Formats: sequence, C-alpha cells, structure tokens
Amino acid sequence: MSNFQTKSISQTLKDLASSIDGLSDKEVVAREHTKQKEEKPKRRNFAFKIFDQFADLMIIVLLVASAISIAIGFVQGQVEEIVDGCIILAIVLMNAIFGAVQENKAEKSLEALSKLTASECLVLRNKTRVKIGCDQLVQGDIVLLESGSIVPADLRLIETVSLKINESSLTGESEEVEKDCNLLLSKNSAISQQKNMAFKGTIVCSGHGKGVVVALGKNTQLGKISKTIQETEKEVSPLQDNIKKIGKVLTYLILVIAVVTFVIEICITPSGILDAFLTAVALAVAAIPESLPAVITIIMSMGVARLAKKKAIVKHMPSVETLGSCSVICSDKTGTITENKMAVKALYDNKNLQQKHLNLSKTNPLLLCAGLCNNALKQDDQCIGNPTEIALLDFCKTQNFDSQEYSKDKEIPFSSERKLMSVLCLGYGQKIMFSKGAPDRLLTKCSYIFKDEKVVLLDENEKKHILSVIEKMGEKALRVIGFAYKKVEKDSDFCEENLIFAGLMGLIDPPRKETKQAISKCKKAGMRPVMITGDYAKTAFAIAKEIGLASSERQVLSGEELGALSDQELLDKIDQISVFARVSPSDKVRIVEAFKKKGKVVAMTGDGVNDAPSLKSANIGIGMGKSGTDVAKEVADIIISDDNFATIIVAVEEGRKIYQNIQKTIKFLFSANLAEMLSLFVVTLVCPQYVFLFPVQLLFTNLISDSLPAVALGVEEPEYDLMNVPPRSKKEGLFSGGNGVSIIALGLVQTALVVVSYFVGLAYSPEIATTMGFYTLNIIQMFYLASMRTKSLFIKSKPFKNKMFLLAVGFCFGLMGLFAFSPLQNILKLESLSLGQWGIIFALSFAMFVASEVYKIIENKIMKRRGR
Ligand code: ATP
Repeated sequence: MSNFQTKSISQTLKDLASSIDGLSDKEVVAREHTKQKEEKPKRRNFAFKIFDQFADLMIIVLLVASAISIAIGFVQGQVEEIVDGCIILAIVLMNAIFGAVQENKAEKSLEALSKLTASECLVLRNKTRVKIGCDQLVQGDIVLLESGSIVPADLRLIETVSLKINESSLTGESEEVEKDCNLLLSKNSAISQQKNMAFKGTIVCSGHGKGVVVALGKNTQLGKISKTIQETEKEVSPLQDNIKKIGKVLTYLILVIAVVTFVIEICITPSGILDAFLTAVALAVAAIPESLPAVITIIMSMGVARLAKKKAIVKHMPSVETLGSCSVICSDKTGTITENKMAVKALYDNKNLQQKHLNLSKTNPLLLCAGLCNNALKQDDQCIGNPTEIALLDFCKTQNFDSQEYSKDKEIPFSSERKLMSVLCLGYGQKIMFSKGAPDRLLTKCSYIFKDEKVVLLDENEKKHILSVIEKMGEKALRVIGFAYKKVEKDSDFCEENLIFAGLMGLIDPPRKETKQAISKCKKAGMRPVMITGDYAKTAFAIAKEIGLASSERQVLSGEELGALSDQELLDKIDQISVFARVSPSDKVRIVEAFKKKGKVVAMTGDGVNDAPSLKSANIGIGMGKSGTDVAKEVADIIISDDNFATIIVAVEEGRKIYQNIQKTIKFLFSANLAEMLSLFVVTLVCPQYVFLFPVQLLFTNLISDSLPAVALGVEEPEYDLMNVPPRSKKEGLFSGGNGVSIIALGLVQTALVVVSYFVGLAYSPEIATTMGFYTLNIIQMFYLASMRTKSLFIKSKPFKNKMFLLAVGFCFGLMGLFAFSPLQNILKLESLSLGQWGIIFALSFAMFVASEVYKIIENKIMKRRGR
C-alpha cells in the first residue's frame, strides 16, 4: 500500500481499516507486526573496548617497557625479569578491563537515561487521547499533531487546522509547508508537494492536526533515505578532554625524565643496563596516573545517575560540568515557577469587575468566547489541553455553558509571538469569529465594545479604563485574558480586525510552593534568577515579588522596551533586570546572548517550538519534561522531568558537587603520583646502586591504593553547603584556587616521608628498605585520603557516611595484609617486617595526615584573607 497522497481521507481510512476515532485495543494487538522498533545504535564489542584502552599513550609506554623487560630477561636468561614483565602486563590488562567495564557501565546508564527521554506521541485509541511511546505505534493509528511535535511516522493527514510543518530535515527546504488534508495529489508528486501528508522526523511549527499512520520506521521516507544509525558518538566533557591533554603532556615529560634517569644510571654503573632500564620503567609506571581517565568517567556517570534520580536528566555529559559554574538561570514563569494549574478568579464584563461569585448569563459573548475559542477537551472527567484553556472551559461549565449549537470551522492558532487565538464558528445560522489573547494586544484589534447589551464604538476613554482594569488584575498576580468577537459575512472577514471587545477574565496560577525557597537558595549561591515570560508585566512582577525574585518594578523590562533598546543599551541595563515580561521567544536569544557577553554562564528553560534557538544558544538549555514540546526536549542539554524551578537548583547543587569531587580526586591522584616519581628519583640519585621500588610494586600502588580510594572521593558528600558560595568562575581551571600548589606541597611531604622510611629500612637491608618504602607509600595514601575528604577536620560531622570510602580503604588494607602476611609477598618482592618497622611505617603515614591537616588550616586562612 502506498501513494496515499492520491487517496481521499475516507479511502485511506478504509484501506488501512482504521477510523477517525482511532483503533481499538484489539485492533492494535492484531497489528503488532507493523510496529517498528527503533533501531538501537550498535554497542561496541567488549573486546574492542578493552583494546581501545591500550590506545592510550600512557599504557603504550608501559606495554613497551614490559615487552623490553621480558625480552632482556630472555636474552640474559633471567627468569625474574620475565616474571616482572608478565606481572606488569597482567596489571596493565587488569587496568584495561577495569576501564572497559567502566565504559560499559557509563554506556548502560546513558542508555537507561535515553529510555527516560524516549520520544512519545499523542494518539487516539478507543476514542480516547493517549500518550504512547513512538515505538508502540502501529499502522492505522490516528496521531494527533500539535505545535512543537516531531512527526513520529509517515501520516496521511485527516484533519488540518492551520497546520504548518518544517520539512527541512527531509527536503532541505527551510520554508514551512502549509498542510491541507482535503487535497488530492497525483502519484508522481514530489515529497515537498505532498501537502496532505506529514513525514516522520519533520517538525510541526504551528497549528494542529490529525493523521493516520501509513508507514513506520524503515518504510517511512526518512527511513528510506537515512542509512542505518551509526554508532553514537561518545561525548567527552571539556574537563575529560583537559585531563586527557594533561595526561599526554605528563607522559611526554615523564618519558624525558625516565630517559635522563636511564642515562644517569648507566653513567654511574655502566654494567647495569638492565637495572637502569628497570628504574626508568619504574619511574614511568610511578608517575603516570593510568587510572585517571577511568576514575573521572566513573565519577561523571555516577553523577549523571544521581541527577536522574533527582529528576534532572542529562542529555549531554558536558552540561554536568557547566551546571556547576552556572551563574544566571533564566526561567519561564508559567509551569516552571508557577504550578500551571489555573482557575478563573475574576472577570470584567465591561461593566463590573467581579472577584467573588462570578456570574455571567448563558448568552453573554464573554462566555461564548471563552467556551468556543478553546481547544481544551473534557474526557472522562479529565481535561486535556492547554492549562489556560482548561481553566476557561472549567469556568464555562460552572456557568452552564453549552457549545452544542456551535461547530468550529476554522482557526488561527495561538502563538507566543502573536499572543492571540481566533476561531470561526457556525451557530444559529450565522458565522461568528471568537478571539482571545493577551488583552493589551487584543485591544489594538478591537473597534467596538459590547456593553450594556449593546455594541458601541470603543473610544479612547473606554480603552484607558480597560487598561486600568487589566493593571488592577495584574497587580493581584492574575493572568489576564481578553475576549472579542465579530460576525463574519464572507471568508475574508475572518481576520483579527474590527473586533468587538467582550471583556476580560483573570486566572490565578499560584507559584509552586518550593519556588520561594529555591529562589533564595539560588541567590545565596551567587546565581541570578531571571524570569522570562510572555505574561503581562504587572502579573509577572506580582508573582516575582511574591517569590522574592524582584522587589521593585524597575527590575521589570517589557518586550516592547526591550525592542527599543540597542544591544549596548541592553548590556548596560541587564544587570538590573530580573523580570522580562511580554517577550516573545525570539527575544529570549537576545537576552541569553547579552548575559553571555557579560561573562555569565547562562541556563535557560524552554518548552515551546520557538524556544529551540534560545535553548541552543544558552550554555545549558533546560527542556521541560512534562509540558515541553518534542523539539524543545530534542535540543535541550538537560531535561527537568517535573518542570520545576526548584529541580534546576537541585541540579546545579549536584553539578557543583560533582566538580568539587573531581577536583579532589585529581588533587589526590596527582600528588600521589608526584610522590611516587620524586621518591624514586631521589633514592636513585642518592644511592643508584639500590632499587627503590620495583615496577610491579609501583603499579600496585598506582592501580590499587590510588585509584580505588579516588573513586570513593567521587561520591563524597560536601562537608559544607556548596550553595553558600558563588559559582566557580569560568576561568577557573583544575589547578587554580591553590589546587596546583597543594598538589606540589603535599606531594613533597609524601616524598619526604617515604624517603625517610626507605632510609630507615636501609639500616637493616636494601630489601627491607624497599618493603618499608612500599608500605609507607601505600598507607600514606589512606591517611592522606582521610584528610582530603574534608576542608577542615573540624567541620565534618559524619566521617563514616561515605561507605565507599570505608570499603575502598578496607579493601586496600586487606590486600596489603594479604601480601604482607602470606607467601604472596614473593610476587611483589616484599620482605616480612618486624613490629617496630610496622610502627615506623604507621607513624610516618600518620604524619602525612597531620601535615595535610596543618596545610588545610593554613590554606583556609589564606583563602579567608583573600575573601574566598
Ligand atoms: P511563560 O513564557 O512564562 O510560559 P506565558 O505562558 O504567559 O508565560 P505565553 O504562552 O506566550 O506566555 O502567553 C502570553 C499571553 O498570551 C498570556 O499572558 C495570555 O494573556 C495569552 N495567552 C496564553 N495562552 C493563551 C491561549 N491559549 N489563547 C489565547 N491567549 C493566550
């Protein structure tokens, strides 16, 4: 079956055995085979992922080193060297598996997230509107299209109300196509001419309509042209990218140092090329933070999973990082700051402003406008549609309004730009146009007024009076809608001109109860909350005042005023503005750009089809999970599944936490690596005839005692309120704010302690020295970690809350114990130690804890003095 563009609506429905009321459940089951499962992006083979880990420069260095070690072992017949090389290989392989497993986990959690954001569509089934996943569609289903929907399948349209679709994804033409379901087209008509069809993947820009599914999945026009979905590209955040780059530089640097050490060793002991080589390998092993990329990926993906639990679904990994530095949050009012549950609380019938016991006669044009210029639907006690229209319909019901005598013929749909909507109705043998919309806009379209049961000219005085009533309603935080109508003789009269003003209705839409607290939290955290709304300035200000967002009307800028400002004037003024009222979606881009020019990191919410450009231009585009259109969700970086402003603040807090933990992890890992490298360097220089630590021992330290606890730092709860400090500056890097200095300082302290331990051991034997150096280096990490977790020892109230920390430390001690007190110690070339020697190791390790605490006290004092 094809060429539905040539068939009439009834023929199409007949061919597909469907009806305008939709399919029944039974029919859906019978058509199960027509369902098209979305093609999942191919997952890469696990073996390939492991292989990928070896593509890292750091790992290649290790592999080459171990290969050379094995080769030399063979040439010289030294079994020990061969075993050493094999152990290094085994550990590197373990590290690769660890990395691949983490990658798998991260991929799975992202897949789970993508299920949460899977596309849905509205269909008619059993005569009822239901939302279903797009993969549940079957042939013959009736799909409802609204502005902002992405068409889920190829459809033969059966109803079109000013339906305009952007088909550029399919045809490349950027101009919107006006659809008409009543057309019949020829078999050979090009896709761009098939105006009675809607195609999968195209975007509904305005109007609404219905269509019957004729093709799904691969059989759609889009499916035919697009090749099988390619593997999803792995997204790397700037932070991860930075770390990769730092890792590369470090590796080169270490290679140079290793070569220098090798040369020095050969010069001092010319016969021991192998020893010199082993020292150089050990140095490379010691200094390269092999596990860093994997650890950061784990921390990030754990953060993304936590965010999802808190109703913030991260679509693009880098936004986790950006969240932490966000400094301006631009939010819609309706639905995000307010509840989006509206009710009519006041009305003005051009005579009285009623605020209690609202009452209108059944024939009052105000009531007719509200009831007929309305697309909301009552279905089994449930109202479906736009909350403003639902509230109006609810009110009409209380006034016993009955729409049966009228039928709708045409519609000019509501748009956030025009802020008006009109319908043409047939009733009692007449054609009447009913309009509603933002009253200030509607008034400019009215020439008459219905007053005292008569239609009279609308003069300037009357207009002024109406505007004063609108202000009065606005001051009470009411969302005001104006209504108008006119009789239509011929089709060309159906335009929004010369209307008869019928009156006003005021709707309450109270702020969500959590908003006030979220706004104050946002301010305390040094971020600027900004309300951007299509609503009237007075209403917007009244709500903004109630939630503590603005205190003076000077903080409000209307769309009109905004339009009159030049870009420079806007820049000069923008710091004083907290509410942008009566703006259209296109203004939002200007506002975002202005804030960005001021150096701010901007988050912007959006729900409508026209919000896509501003969501894209913001640093963090936030889509609304409940009320958002497909298009807004598609371009957003983060989706807030409960549409709540407070959730954005929760997400920012989580973002800050993730960044802080990553910073702690990096500090921990880099200073540990520095200590490993320096102590090896020092010992080699002072006594080149002895081995400091063997490569396997250093690898153990690097991959076990460093990386496991580092992951534990990633889930650390902040010990102070992260929302009490201003956002991190955009310029701030990983090593700024004293981090770089502390890595070096504490790395030096660790080095000193390990070297002391080694030299104490040397008094017994070189083997004991190596063993003492090894344990000190490992146990120091545990003490350092315990101190790293907090900003100051005295703030932390729950030192044992981080279970992962306890587990990681317990595991590391357990493993060390196993090596220390079993024959396994031979594998790591360790000796048995006396109680006294253990005492020295623990004393020196504890000294690291003390040193770190003292360092923090000094650091905090300096920071305080600098006012940070
Ligand atoms: P926000 O941008 O915060 O979501 P908003 O929902 O008020 O605010 P718009 O949807 O652009 O923004 O609405 C702007 C104005 O248009 C409203 O103040 C109201 O007067 C009018 N309006 C809203 N919805 C409708 C509708 N369905 N029909 C006619 N007029 C409407």
